[in-house]
Amino acid sequence: MADTNQNKWRVPLSHPDLTDAERQAVMDVLQTPNLSMGPEHIAFEAAVAEYAGAKHAISVNSGTAGLHLCVRAAGIQPGDLVLTTPFSFMASTNVILFEKAIPVFVDADSQTGNIDVAQLAQAAKDLAGGGETAKRWLPRKGAQNHGPLKAILPVDVFGQPADMDAVIEIAQQYRLKVIEDSCEALGAEYKGRQAGMLGDMGVFAFYPNKQITTAEGGMIVTDDDAAADMMRALRNQGRAPGDTWLQHSYLGYNYRLDELSAALGRVQMGRIEELLAKRAQVANWYRQHLKDEPRLELPEVMPVTTRMSWFVYVIRLAEGIDRDAFIHRMADEGIPARPYFAPIHLQLYMMEMFGYREGCYPVTEDLGRRGVAIPFSSVMTEEEVEIVSEVLKKLLAG
Ligand SMILES: *Cc1c(COP(=O)(O)O)cnc(C)c1O
Repeated sequence: MADTNQNKWRVPLSHPDLTDAERQAVMDVLQTPNLSMGPEHIAFEAAVAEYAGAKHAISVNSGTAGLHLCVRAAGIQPGDLVLTTPFSFMASTNVILFEKAIPVFVDADSQTGNIDVAQLAQAAKDLAGGGETAKRWLPRKGAQNHGPLKAILPVDVFGQPADMDAVIEIAQQYRLKVIEDSCEALGAEYKGRQAGMLGDMGVFAFYPNKQITTAEGGMIVTDDDAAADMMRALRNQGRAPGDTWLQHSYLGYNYRLDELSAALGRVQMGRIEELLAKRAQVANWYRQHLKDEPRLELPEVMPVTTRMSWFVYVIRLAEGIDRDAFIHRMADEGIPARPYFAPIHLQLYMMEMFGYREGCYPVTEDLGRRGVAIPFSSVMTEEEVEIVSEVLKKLLAG
C-alpha cells in the first residue's frame, strides 16, 4: 500500500525478511529462459506440500486467486449460500461474490476474532431447514431466490486457526465443503494439525507482510485429487491435462505464479522455522513490555492453538479510547499503526448490495473499532519493540 509517511517512521509497520540466498535465487532464474511454469514453481509447490502435509500444493499469483479457485472447485454456483465471517480481509468474501454466490455472515468470537462456531452451528441448521428461521441469517436484500447452502469459508485470523473441529463437524452434518482461508496462518497448528489442511482445501498467501513472501503469490493445499486437477486447469487458462496451448476445456484464468516469485518462495520456505520463531520472539517481547497496561488487551492464544503463526500484532484499546485519534497520535510520535480489520459488511458496496448497516454484527464491529495493528515483522529488534511500547504507554497514560 502506498505510504506517503514512510520516511517519518521510526519503525516500519511490516517488513519482509530477505537474505542474499533469496536474491541469488531470483538472479539465477534470470539466467534461464524459464520465467513461467518452470522448475521453480514445481520445487516451491513440493516444499509447501511437504511442510503442510498436503497431497497437492498449487501455486497461484495471489492468495485471493487461490481462494477464488477453491470456490470454483467447490462447485459454488450463482445464488448458492456460503457461510463466512465479516471479520476478515475483504478477499475472503470477494471470492464468493466473484461467482455471484451469497456470503452469509456469522459474527466473530470476541476472544480470537475467529468465526463463532456456536452461531455457525445454528446458522447451518436454520439455513438447511429453510423457511422463516433461515431468514434471520440472510441479508436484508440481495438474497431473493437464493440457492442451497454449499460451503463454509472460515478464516484463520491473525495466524490463529479457527475452531476447525467444530467447523468440520457442522460441514459433515450438512454436507458442506470447507475452504480454509489460511492466508494469515502458514505454519500454525490446531490440536497438532497444520492450518490450511483442516478443511477440504486451504490457501496460504505470500504478500510482503506475510510470514513468507513471494512479492505477490499464494498457494492452495488439498488432498482432493479431482479438485486439485480442476484448480491446476483453472489457474492455467482452463487447460485440462492433455489440452494444447490453444485448447481450453474450461473457463479459466491466468493465475500462474512466475518463476522469480517461486524461487523467492522456495528459499523462504527453507527458512520457515527461523522466520516463525523470530515472529514468536517479537510477539513475546511485546507481551513482556505491554502486559501490565490496564487499558490494552493483548492477543490471546487458545489452548487448541498448539502453534500460533504470528502474522500481525493487533492490540485492542479499552472502551472509550478514540482509536482513530490514537493512531494519529502514534503517527505524530513516528510509529505507524492501522485499524485491523475493517468489518466487511460495512464496506460501501456490501451495504449497497445487501442492505447491511451498523449493528448487524456487533462483535466484528467492536473488534473493528478497537483493534490496532502495531509494527510487527521477523526483522524487528527488541529495541524497536521497546520504542513502540514506550510510545504506547506514554499515549495511554496521557
Ligand atoms: C492476505 C490475505 C488474503 C490474500 O491476499 P492476497 O493479497 O490476495 O495475497 C486473503 N485472506 C486474508 C484473511 C488475508 O489476510
